[in-house]
Amino acid sequence: MLEMQPPIFARSRPGRRGFDLPAAGVPTPGGPEDRPGSIAGLLGEVEMRDEPPRLPELAEPEVVRHYTKLSQLNHAVDTGFYPLGSCTMKYNPKVNDELTGLPGFAELHPYQAVEDVQGTLQAMWELEQQLLELTGMRRASLQPAAGAHGELVGILMIRAWQRDRGEGHRDTVIVPDSAHGTNLATASMAGYKVVEMPSSAQGLIDLGSLKETLSRHQVSALMLTNPNTLGLFEEDILEISRLTHEAGALIYYDGANLNAILGKAKPGEMGMDVVHVNLHKTFSTPHGGGGPGAGPVAVGETLEPYLPAPLVARRPDSAGTGGAADLEGSADTYRSPEFYFEQERPKSIGRVRGFYGNVGVLIRALAYIISMGGDGLQQATEDAVLNANYLRARLRDTYEIPCDRMSMHEFVASAGRQKSYGVNARDVAKRILDSGMHAPSIYFPLIVPEALMIEPTETENRETLDAFVEVMRQIDRESREDPELVRTAPHTTPVRRPDEVLAARRPVLRWVPEDPVNG
Ligand SMILES: *Cc1c(COP(=O)(O)O)cnc(C)c1O
Repeated sequence: MLEMQPPIFARSRPGRRGFDLPAAGVPTPGGPEDRPGSIAGLLGEVEMRDEPPRLPELAEPEVVRHYTKLSQLNHAVDTGFYPLGSCTMKYNPKVNDELTGLPGFAELHPYQAVEDVQGTLQAMWELEQQLLELTGMRRASLQPAAGAHGELVGILMIRAWQRDRGEGHRDTVIVPDSAHGTNLATASMAGYKVVEMPSSAQGLIDLGSLKETLSRHQVSALMLTNPNTLGLFEEDILEISRLTHEAGALIYYDGANLNAILGKAKPGEMGMDVVHVNLHKTFSTPHGGGGPGAGPVAVGETLEPYLPAPLVARRPDSAGTGGAADLEGSADTYRSPEFYFEQERPKSIGRVRGFYGNVGVLIRALAYIISMGGDGLQQATEDAVLNANYLRARLRDTYEIPCDRMSMHEFVASAGRQKSYGVNARDVAKRILDSGMHAPSIYFPLIVPEALMIEPTETENRETLDAFVEVMRQIDRESREDPELVRTAPHTTPVRRPDEVLAARRPVLRWVPEDPVNG
């Protein structure tokens, strides 16, 4: 456990300094240099502080230790196991960060001329091609900044298409009851009514209730996740696609779980009309702390005209050339650069983000895809699925598994049995933290009581998985023998059970001194 030091303000001592700068040489107002036209005169009294800011006075090593310790209070993929279902918290190779940081990428300005940024445009264009290959779609926008943003873009495109064909009266989006909350939020933000559809006993979309829902409402779209949030592949996906299209609606494919099917199955071949890809989940960008992500949306033929503009495009006459290398020495190519922004898209729903997307995340994803290669991505998928099934098989004698059959990259267990000893899913999750591991997602999907949604990812070895099984078994024993120990967990973390609602609504991000500094 980390020893808690007095807050940094309390450690302040007058005169301690982390810097040593020469005197500023700027006259102060009212001082001898304060005459008309001087800096002090220009600033005037109003802008000047009456007193120095109340900053703690500390030497550099103390400041470094303070921030380094703070950084260690968080759990991270780089410090331990992180089986947070649906989030794909896998290890991200550092080489992808390094490539993104190359000055040719990192030091560009978004207002630079297209001729100057050919390398980045080529990387974006190539990423689009890779994503189209992996999803089986036709064209993609890299603009959306996250999965939820991609969802909104997708649904707005569906709405524009439907209005175009005179079917603007269709006012409903169908969402299975296992869906991620962002799906419902997206549909209602786009102005739709949301109809929730109950899952079958097997945890899948029920064809009977799909048919009924399609016939009872003016349906614009079905939003689905495949594999779904129970980690199960929708076996009737082709029939789901046929029924939905026959009813005049389109299908939105939530691609957050793409880590389970890369190189094995493509949404395009399942008949999907639009899919978002969470680059920060499947394609190697550290996430979880609210940092930038990217949620490109890829579409089939129907929605292609509606994609946000501009798109990155490549001149057809340059197809087949060697790419950016050809730029050298050819004055012609400079006048009409190979890669450009395609602005003329009359049916486009318009720009959805400032500039061109979170380009750093896009470069990371491309680096990851190229370095893994087709074989590597396929292997990652297989290992992710194997790891999830290994854990499911080893945990099924201690925890209930409501849909206990072959899963994809994640599965949902329940703390229902432990609840009879007085311990719920939250308590189990909190107790896991005492082992130095992160907890699974809990209480999601909503259709499983006391849900523990476990996604080990492909980057964990067998020893780690076995250690997690041991922790889960121990917590089950404790639930029977000493439930209070579990109910009061965690016991070793710097913060124990914060009020989660208050923490989200009124986050305290700043320590405010109670007494004047140095007082
Ligand atoms: C993560 C996730 C989303 C939302 O993606 P963000 O990138 O977090 O906005 C949507 N659906 C599912 C199933 C997810 O797991």
